[in-house]
Amino acid sequence: MSLLRAPILLLARSTKVKQLVSTMPVSSGIVTGYVPGETTADAVRATQGLVDNDLLATLDYLGEDTTDVAHAEATVAAYKDVLAELSARGLASKAEVSVKLSAIGQFLPDQGHKVALENAREICRAARNAGTTVTLDMEDHTTTDSTLSILRELRKDFPETGAVLQAMLHRTEADCRALAYEGSRVRLCKGAYMEPEEVAFQDKVDIDKSYVRCLKALLGGQGYPMIATHDPRMVHIATSLASRFGRRAGTYEFQMLFGIRPEEQKRLAAAGETMRVYIPYGTEWYGYLMRRLAEKPQNLAFFARSLVSKK
Ligand SMILES: Cc1cc2nc3c(=O)[nH]c(=O)nc-3n(C[C@H](O)[C@H](O)[C@H](O)COP(=O)(O)OP(=O)(O)OC[C@H]3O[C@@H](n4cnc5c(N)ncnc54)[C@H](O)[C@@H]3O)c2cc1C
Repeated sequence: MSLLRAPILLLARSTKVKQLVSTMPVSSGIVTGYVPGETTADAVRATQGLVDNDLLATLDYLGEDTTDVAHAEATVAAYKDVLAELSARGLASKAEVSVKLSAIGQFLPDQGHKVALENAREICRAARNAGTTVTLDMEDHTTTDSTLSILRELRKDFPETGAVLQAMLHRTEADCRALAYEGSRVRLCKGAYMEPEEVAFQDKVDIDKSYVRCLKALLGGQGYPMIATHDPRMVHIATSLASRFGRRAGTYEFQMLFGIRPEEQKRLAAAGETMRVYIPYGTEWYGYLMRRLAEKPQNLAFFARSLVSKK
């Protein structure tokens, strides 16, 4: 991991920094590099652009850490809106949605677990009616048990619901084995949050080694692995392991984020791999943008210039 990752993620928690950054228009270069727009129409347009290039999509209506019920309900409505639009445009077989449970009520006092589960159910129902699926994003380690427990509940009625596991957590190799059963869709990523050393690997080398062990567990298992990484080494190792485990194309997929390594996304699709791109959209892009900047501190100079010029 970059030495600047932790300080940037810490700074991102400051309300002052948040106020300053959030006044940047979504049209400023640094934001549009990662977020194609704020509306359902923007998200659907970006999806169509990807589909035209033989790529699949998963759409994330941005938002996290919601603490009021109305806000959580508005997020559910936004998902239903985009799902209806995907269906109307014949895009539902090419695009699913990714949902953060903290955006739909997981942190509400007392009732959080129940509200998030009910809201997630509503989105899963809308996704199924539209002809597509939901994947539950994974947030910081304090939410892992609650998120996996909601996943288990949801899968009773919606077994197609996808999970996300983060290789940086010590527990994840075991979680991969537990979730590598038939029909189980599991996205493996490295993990985007600042985590303490009691629960997470801190060095890039250790995180990468864990990622490979998790890949072996998922690709060697019976489920449907979704390999979410931009790391050329991890992509190469995943391709070799898929072939070693006799995995045919279509029994697993690669995933990358909108705006990151777009040429590699097209190259993998052209090579016959299933490639899905994660499209974040909406007005609440702050947390997402700061995590992306923390991963790529080289972007900081560009970012600082955008702040100063406020274009
Ligand atoms: C589809 C998808 C879904 C995800 N869902 C989650 C989730 O639910 N929970 C979660 O914690 N994390 C999630 N992540 C983020 C993930 O955990 C990592 O933080 C992120 O993908 C960076 O790790 P990496 O595997 O690309 O490897 P890294 O070692 O970080 O990066 C490898 C290379 O990728 C390129 N790259 C990486 N990041 C950037 C960037 N921001 N800008 C430009 N180039 C970059 C660079 O060339 C870099 O050298 C998701 C990632 C993807 C692709």
